[in-house]
Amino acid sequence: MFTLPDLSYAYDALEPHLDKATMEIHHSKHHATYVSKLNEALDKEPKMQDKSLDWLLANLPEVPDTIRTAVRNHGGGHYNHSLFWQIMSPNKSQPSAQLVEAIDKSFGSMEKFKEQFNQTAVSLFGSGWAWLVKKSDTNLIIMTTNNQDSPISQGMEPILGLDVWEHAYYLKWQNKRADYVSTWWQVVNWSEVSRRFNG
Ligand code: MN
Repeated sequence: MFTLPDLSYAYDALEPHLDKATMEIHHSKHHATYVSKLNEALDKEPKMQDKSLDWLLANLPEVPDTIRTAVRNHGGGHYNHSLFWQIMSPNKSQPSAQLVEAIDKSFGSMEKFKEQFNQTAVSLFGSGWAWLVKKSDTNLIIMTTNNQDSPISQGMEPILGLDVWEHAYYLKWQNKRADYVSTWWQVVNWSEVSRRFNG
C-alpha cells in the first residue's frame, strides 16, 4: 500500500509564491487521490503489490494491461508530486558546484537554463510537467511529459520538476502561467536538487 507523504513544511510556508489554499488542495486532495487510485488498481493485481513505485513506472510494459493505464496515471501522479514537494522549500539554498558546472556545460549558464526551462513550461500545451533530467554526470536536458507521465518511464532521471497542470496554480495565478513559472524559482530547494544530481 502506498501512502501520501507528509510535506516537510506547512501549507502556507511557500507564500506568497505558492498560496496556502493551492498547496493544501494540491497535496491533501489531488495527490491523495493519485495514491488511493494507485492502491485501488494494485488491489486487482496482487502480484504487482510487492513492486516499488520506481519499478512499476520504469517497467510499464510488464505491468498487466488491466491496470497499466491506472499505474501510469496514478502511479506517475504519486511519483511526480512526491518529487515536487521535496524540490521546494521555504529555505533558500544554492545548487552544488558540480550541479552549477553541469548546468553551465549543458545550457551555457544558470540564467540561460532558467530561460529555456520557463519557455518550455509556459509553452507546454494542456496538462503536464517540465523537467530537468540527468543524462550523465555532466549532461542535463530539459524535457516535458504530458498528463502524469513520469520521466522514469522513459529511462530518464528527473532531478527537478514543475507541475504545470492548472490545479497547481489557477487559484492564485489564473491564466498567468508564466507568472507562476517565474515566481516558482523563489521556492526551489537547490539542496535537494543537488542531492538528486549528485546521487
Ligand atoms: Mn499536480
